[in-house]
Amino acid sequence: MTTVVRFAPSPTGNIHLGNARPALMNWMFALKTGGQFILRFDDTDLERSKQEYADAIEVDLAWLGIKPHRLERQSERKSAHDAARDKLIADGRLYPCYETADELDRRRKRARAMGKPPIYDRAGLSLTDEDKAKFEAEGRKPHWRFKLEGKEVLFSDVVRGEQKVNTDTMSDPVLIREDGSYLYTLPSVVDDIDMGVTHVIRGEDHVTNTGAQIELFETLGANVPSFGHHNLLTDASGEGFSKRKGSMSITHLREEGYEAMAVALIAILTGTSQPVAPHASLEELAQSFDVSMVSRSSARFDPSELDAFNARMVHAMPFDAVKDRLAELGIEDGEALWNTVHENLAKFDEIKQWQELVQGPVQSIVAEEDREFIDAAKEYLPAEPWDENTWGMWTDQLKAETGRKGKGLFMPLRLALSGQSHGPELKTLLPLLGRKACLDRLA
Ligand code: GLU
Repeated sequence: MTTVVRFAPSPTGNIHLGNARPALMNWMFALKTGGQFILRFDDTDLERSKQEYADAIEVDLAWLGIKPHRLERQSERKSAHDAARDKLIADGRLYPCYETADELDRRRKRARAMGKPPIYDRAGLSLTDEDKAKFEAEGRKPHWRFKLEGKEVLFSDVVRGEQKVNTDTMSDPVLIREDGSYLYTLPSVVDDIDMGVTHVIRGEDHVTNTGAQIELFETLGANVPSFGHHNLLTDASGEGFSKRKGSMSITHLREEGYEAMAVALIAILTGTSQPVAPHASLEELAQSFDVSMVSRSSARFDPSELDAFNARMVHAMPFDAVKDRLAELGIEDGEALWNTVHENLAKFDEIKQWQELVQGPVQSIVAEEDREFIDAAKEYLPAEPWDENTWGMWTDQLKAETGRKGKGLFMPLRLALSGQSHGPELKTLLPLLGRKACLDRLA
């Protein structure tokens, strides 16, 4: 059997790190099992869904290394959803309800006050044709609920093991709004059926939904797919990411200059039994990774871990692997530069600052009171060849000759050589500059 998975975002905003997790979990699964990955836009909310978000999601997924085999849009499948609706109505499993949001709210409050669970009382089920006609005459339009069987739904979750959801403790879910548009549940199940989805892998916030969805699969006479619910990625305070708080959007992380692979590996491996460690490719990781490695406890994302991991990956990159990327930044013949400085970079693009510093022109800064010191520095500049020990030799001698030390010694040299009060290690910079450029900058 070919496995089929789907990632089903609603294009109502940019995807964030928390969304990248199910996307990548599904991608891992497809790679490992040689299956198909469908990118399915859950875009039945026509008001909030935007093409620009759908486009951005495609770009973000491609950046993360996900190449969907198929693209689907729920908005184009209305006739299939309508057919399922008609079948459910014919089978007596979908029934109209006329309560307003206010009325429902009051009923829930009353139930709570009486110490009862706030479950929908199924008043809609006992409405006569006259009742309905009366509501319609008042200008009310029905919303439609799926009549649950009210039973223990059992399923074997590929992450969480045996699961039991009791649909007896749930309100019959609303499948269709008053305006006739579909909420998430029905299109999702119908599309999973029609698209032959074999494994539904998603966040654990959907475990309860799964109970109702399994009943829906069964009612529609379909095979029930396997389910896997992974823990949700949260921020350091344990809160989930949101589309409104844009700081952890994938687009933002890309623009911030993080390595796609660093972001992807953090999004997958945090909160699993596999340590966050470099991998040559997602394909390689997929061979050793399994969704069952996802742990049951929370998956906390720590931004400093991403920073450190990103730096670790950049430090490990050989020149051959980055040659083309350097050329894209306009850095040709960058081998010496890369080999000398890449272990100082937190992010790849910082190489550009180094190159500008090395290549110049640089506006040297020499304060009046440092003029004499800088003249001495020029005089004692060692002869070439230079290496990473040159800086130490030079500054030791300057210390002995001028009595300066600490900041009073280093800062004037930094300002003169780089024109900046902070920046890369001078020990590393010096050999890249070479003696002639140093003399010029000290002059
Ligand atoms: N559009 C749904 C969501 O983003 C999809 C959930 C699912 O995978 O079934 O939550």
